[in-house]
Amino acid sequence: MTFPPRCYYCDFGPFVNTDNYERHIVTKHVHLPAYPSPGDLRFYKLTPQNMYWERTLTDQEIMERIRNYTPVSERVKHYSRTAKPTTKMWS
Ligand SMILES: [Zn+2]
Repeated sequence: MTFPPRCYYCDFGPFVNTDNYERHIVTKHVHLPAYPSPGDLRFYKLTPQNMYWERTLTDQEIMERIRNYTPVSERVKHYSRTAKPTTKMWS
């Protein structure tokens, strides 16, 4: 589920799809987070709707993300290997 069943900020809902949900937030609740983190829930006093972005990650999940993260230096190496040099750049 990539959108919550109901709006966090008013009684509107249920939404039919992500576009429908984001359009509502962007037009009716300007500058408020559409996908509130645990800190946002506390700060705006929102009612949780059991969505994945409301969860605090466990230490293990954080370590997992760090392990899967490719450092910038590695990505630069990858792209400089695969990028095709263009003659236009030098003329
Ligand atoms: Zn709303």
